[in-house]
This record gives sequence, C-alpha cells and structure tokens, in this order.
Amino acid sequence: MTARKIAKKHIADLLNEWRQGFNVFVPSRDEGVAKWARWDGGDAEFLEWYRNTVVPPKALFFPPLEEMFSFHKDGDGYRVEQPPPAEERWLIFGIRPCDARALAVLDLNFKEGYEDLYYLKRRENGVLVGLGCTRPYESCFCTSLGIGPTDAADVDLMLTDIGAYFLVEAVTDRGEELLGKTSLVHAATGADEARAEEARKAAGARVTRKIDSQGISEKLRASFEDKGFWERVSAKCISCGICTFLCPTCYCFDISDELVKRHGARFRSWDSCAFSLYTKMPMENPRREKWRRLRQKVCHKYEFYPDSFDVIACTGCGRCIRLCPVNWDITWVLSSLPVQKQVGLET
Ligand code: SF4
Ligand code: SF4
Repeated sequence: MTARKIAKKHIADLLNEWRQGFNVFVPSRDEGVAKWARWDGGDAEFLEWYRNTVVPPKALFFPPLEEMFSFHKDGDGYRVEQPPPAEERWLIFGIRPCDARALAVLDLNFKEGYEDLYYLKRRENGVLVGLGCTRPYESCFCTSLGIGPTDAADVDLMLTDIGAYFLVEAVTDRGEELLGKTSLVHAATGADEARAEEARKAAGARVTRKIDSQGISEKLRASFEDKGFWERVSAKCISCGICTFLCPTCYCFDISDELVKRHGARFRSWDSCAFSLYTKMPMENPRREKWRRLRQKVCHKYEFYPDSFDVIACTGCGRCIRLCPVNWDITWVLSSLPVQKQVGLET
C-alpha cells in the first residue's frame, strides 16, 4: 500500500476526528508516570516526552480487575447476570511495536489455549495505531527477539517519525479504512520514504542491549534442575511481582467471589507466579522456594510458551529490568545460563 504522511502539528486534529467513532487512548502522564488515558482533546504534547508507558497496553484488553458476572439469590437458587459484551470501539494511538507484538503473543493463550471471551471481544473491537520507537531505553532488547523498534507487523496503522511529519502506512484494511476518512494525510514522496528508512535503521541501532536467543529453550531445559544456578540468580529478588504485573505478555489471574447478603459478583484480578501465595487455593503452591518461582517466570517465557505456541513470550520491552526494585535483570540470567549443560553437548 502507498505510504502517506501527516504533519505532527495535525496529530491532535486527527485524534479528534477519530474520537467521533472510537474511544481513543493515548500516552498520558499521571504524577510523572506514563500510562494510557482517554484522549480528551487538547495538544498532543505526549509526542514530546513519550518513550513507553509503565503499565503496558495489555491492561486495556485484560484489565487488572474486572467483573465477570454477578449473581443474585433467587428463591432456592441463584440468578446469574453477565455484564453486556464490550461493544465500544477502541483506538490505541502510539502503541510501541514490542507491546503490539505482546498482544499477538497473548492472543495465542486467550484464543488457542482456551477462548477468553472478555479479552477476545476487546481485541476484536480494538484498532492499533503504532508509533515507531526512536528513543529506546537502555533496558530494551527487542531486536534480539526479532522485533524492530519501528516494526509494523502487529498494528493496523504505523507511524514513523521523519522530522516535522510522520510517515503513515496502512498495514491492514482497518488501517486503510481509518485513513480513508481523513483529509489530514497526504501522499508521501520518495524522499519521505527514504527518510523513514533512515529513521528505522537509526532506531534499530539504538537498541544496544542484546541476548543470544538461539537455542535458549534447550539451554533452559538442560539447566532446569540446576538448583545452585537458580538460587544464585534469584537471590536478590524480593518477590514483589512487579516484573510480572508490568510484563506485557504475562496473563496469570486469580478469581474471587464477593457476596453481600443476596447479591454477589465474581471478579478476576491479575496474579503473579512470583508470589508465594500463588495458587494457594485450591491447592498448595508447588513452588514454595523463591528460586522455583523465578525459574518458572523465565522458563515460561523462553521454554514452555515456545513449546506450546512456537513463539517466545518475551518481546524485550525491558520493563522487568528498569522497573524491578532490586535491579534483577532477565538478560543477565539468560546470558548466565550454564552452557556446558546444553542438550547434545554432554559427553
Ligand atoms: S520485579 Fe524484581 S524483585 Fe520483584 S518479583 Fe520481579 S525480579 Fe523479583
Ligand atoms: S519478560 Fe521483561 S522484557 Fe520480556 S516482555 Fe516481559 S517485561 Fe518485557
């Protein structure tokens, strides 16, 4: 599809146009913390400071807390009421390629692992407008997982910074449809496309943290029983769960019922395999020691998920590194795996 461009000074106008048909979400700052919030008009000032949000966009599709249904005592039995399906149409403006890939990773669990209607309905109604990442953090390592900071693969529409303009590419029919309704985008020139290509190369080069993801599942499998290694690399973890709550591909949840007199509701809320109380009910947590829980986090992303779905469940967004209170670092763990125990290298 032909590339187009839009002047940066017209982004706010474009968002206002889209607001007529969608609930538009953009990066926003709340007491200095970057998060997703509804676009309420005004300036698109986030373009000046935005790098990535603290809470990933998964929270818009899979909220930290949601009511699944309510129930009411009715005679001898219960009457169950499901909340109406999420019919609203969403548009997420500015999602980074790593986080868009994370949604594609989550889709596998929520669509193929089992059918999670709550999540799937929101995904079906959500349009993703990507914004190429030109200022990755030191903790980012997306390129080691085959994702470029300006990749358009998992969004409907992709914007790449080319100075006073963004190059705009419609990736899907939904993206094309969005552009068809506005007069704010114009045909891009060959020079614009060349500038975008330069910007893509420069952005990729700015991701300097690397891991070798080749054969990583096998290395983890071979190191699974190496208690000494896992104890060593988990020593400083305080089991706070931040690295899982804020990971764009983590999806564990707990279910609880609240009942007041004759009325109640069933909720689900994010949970974390880092917690010692995880799966305490209805059975004991099989991972009592911290090293087993941290091993689970790493192996789930780099061994078990690839075994189930043929894809690594980490996008290198770096949140678990930059937001961990004790500077635990998954890239350090992966790079420290005892190589002499690789499958096939033992004699
Ligand atoms: S964020 Fe850090 S301290 Fe908290 S559970 Fe994760 S690794 Fe442990
Ligand atoms: S494991 Fe860490 S780097 Fe990988 S996707 Fe999750 S938060 Fe991002």
